[in-house]
Parts: sequence; structure tokens; C-alpha cells
Amino acid sequence: MSEDFYDALGVSRDASEDEIKQAYRKKAAEYHPDVSDAEDAEEKFKEVKKAKEVLTDEEKRQAYDRMGHERFEQAEKRGGFDQGAGGAGGAGGPFGGAGGAGGPFGGAGGGGGINDIFEQFFGGGGAGGGQRGPRPGRDLRMELGLDLEEAFEGVTKEVSITRPSRCDVCEGEGHPPEADAETCPECNGEGRVTRVQQTPFGRMQQTGECPRCDGAGELYDETCGECRGDGIVREDVTMRVDIPEGIKTGQTIRREGEGAPGEPGARNGDLLIDVRVRDHDEFERDGDDLYYRLPISFPQATFGDEVTVDVFGEDVTVEIPAGTQSGEQFRERGAGMPRTHRRGRGSLVVQVQVVTPDPGDLNEDQQEALEAFAEAGGEEIELKEGFWQKIKNSF
Ligand SMILES: [Zn+2]
Ligand SMILES: [Zn+2]
Repeated sequence: MSEDFYDALGVSRDASEDEIKQAYRKKAAEYHPDVSDAEDAEEKFKEVKKAKEVLTDEEKRQAYDRMGHERFEQAEKRGGFDQGAGGAGGAGGPFGGAGGAGGPFGGAGGGGGINDIFEQFFGGGGAGGGQRGPRPGRDLRMELGLDLEEAFEGVTKEVSITRPSRCDVCEGEGHPPEADAETCPECNGEGRVTRVQQTPFGRMQQTGECPRCDGAGELYDETCGECRGDGIVREDVTMRVDIPEGIKTGQTIRREGEGAPGEPGARNGDLLIDVRVRDHDEFERDGDDLYYRLPISFPQATFGDEVTVDVFGEDVTVEIPAGTQSGEQFRERGAGMPRTHRRGRGSLVVQVQVVTPDPGDLNEDQQEALEAFAEAGGEEIELKEGFWQKIKNSF
């Protein structure tokens, strides 16, 4: 079995839903027990099915990304990932909920509030799972806006966040090294307590980390003055993030270890940067294709022409054939957006619009020529009395 759903489907961690579905269809066809001769086909088939099920459900996928494969599977066996994933974006204990940029501290506030206890009890750190030991840090999430041109070229962006960080003074312990310890009276030094909780499904008995000593089993007679015992302080950081060319709205860049700090001895969470590409005035994006509306004149449409479209500094030549009608589209393959996961680029799709001239914009020669054109074609155009005179006077 693969140890990761993304690997199972052979897609990257920031693959879009469409890419995941596409990869699933391919794999499912490959491993379908009716078709495949492979010995483990059925198992593989089940796995890719499961992977697709999780990764195409936004909530499940977020939980999966946050928890990792093993913890996600454990949480599911326990009866739903929802409980383990709770608290994300919420009040956040000292180790930080996944808040937005600027607010990764969430409601941690002074610490020790009812939310913190609840969070520690039911939070995503594997409470109730029976594991002890230091908890890894949470992932933090932020949004990053990009111009279409930046998405086209790829760019290095400076990103500033305020995030929880391990207190340097006490190294995250929350107390000075020389502080005296005593056994926690709440849990008698066990570090864990059992509580009964009334839930919509009935009474549930839940064992969790002791809220008084945070699972340490000991209390200290002094707390760290810097972090007031949380072991965590606020930190403003600016980092440079490389954005690959072709990135789309909805894709996420992961910076490993840049999330909330883990408890001493455990790894940090990751920083997840959700990309949003802003609309552009001239180009409309559809996947890897760029749509562009090109105004052309009536003679250009009639006789044909070669026009140049500036695609973010790149000149793309578009052939307008003779007799082109307004609204016709011409596709220039390979002149659109770069692709993030495959080689090559999408298309530039040029839609021409034949512009009907405003009579006021025509000079005298143009007016006469147009009149002559109509007459030569046998058209009878009845101009209103004084039409040309009015136009002429306006010059
Ligand atoms: Zn401290
Ligand atoms: Zn305790």
C-alpha cells in the first residue's frame, strides 16, 4: 500500500480536483479487478478509490493535509476525522489553530481560558488517541493574491505573517530551567484525566491531556516571564516564497516547518499558502488558456491581416483570414498560460470584433469612399437631410 493518497493517485499535493479525478479514472481503469491481472489489483483498486474519495472532498482533504496519512487513518478508524480536525481555524490552544495570516494566534489570548482547555481536550493533537509525547505543531493557512502576469511568469513574493513561535527564553518549556517542580494535583502526576462529556450521541467518556499541567504531570512554582508559561510567543516573520509559473487560484504552496511550533521535541507545522490569481483587464483565463478580445477594422476583416498580441511582453502573431466575421475565434496553441504539472503551455484564444466606425471619427475621404462603396454595391443609403454637412461642421 502507498503511504500517501497523493502518491497512490500519482498527483502532486496541490493538484486540482479535476486533476485528481482524472488521475483516479486512469488508475481505476488500470487496477480494476475485472481488467487487471495484477495480484494485488483489488487492493490497489480499493486504495485509489479511497484516495479519490478523500481528496475530492474538500473538508476531508484539508483534514488529511493537516493530519498526515497515519493520523488521518487512525482518526477515521476512531469514528471520523471530524473530531480530530476540530478546532482548526477556531479558538486555537497555545499551539495555534489554523487561523488566517495575521491571526494565527487565534483566540489563544491570555491562555488558560475555557477554549484552551476544550481545545486541548478535543483538539487535533491526537487527544484521546492514547499517544503521549510531544505534539507536532499545527499547520497555518494564509491567502496570497497574485496578478495574472505574475502567475504567467512565476514570481518570488515576500510574505509577512504573525505566527506563534517557540519562546526562546524558556525553550518552549513555559518555566525557567531552575524552577521547582511539584506533582500536579489535578492528574496526580499522570498527565491525563478522564472526563464525561454530554454529546448529541449520548454520554461519552473521554480521556485527554490534563489541562492543568498540559500533560507534563508536574507544575512549576515559576512561569516564564516572556511567554507567561505558554512556551509560545508571537513572532512577525517575512519570508520569500517562490511561486511557480502557471499557478492557478485554488492551488496551495506548502512551506514545511513554517507553521506553528510543535511542543519541545516535536516538529513544527507547515505554512499553507492558498493562491488566488486576480482577474485581468485584457485577458480572461480558462484553465491554461487565455482569452483575448481583439478589435479589428472592417477592411482588416474583409482583406485579412496579420496582427500582433502582446501576451505579457511576448509578441504573438495572429493570422486574420480574409472574410473574417465578427465574433470568430482563432486559437494559437502554446501561446497561453504555462502549465504547472505538465510541459508546455495552453492556448491563446483570440476573438475578433469587427468595429463599425462612428461616422464622426471618419475623415472626408473615408466618408466619400464609404458612400461610394455602398453605391457601387447598388445599395441605396438614404442619409438624413444635412447628415454630411453636420459631420463636416463638426471638424
Ligand atoms: Zn517562555
Ligand atoms: Zn496534571
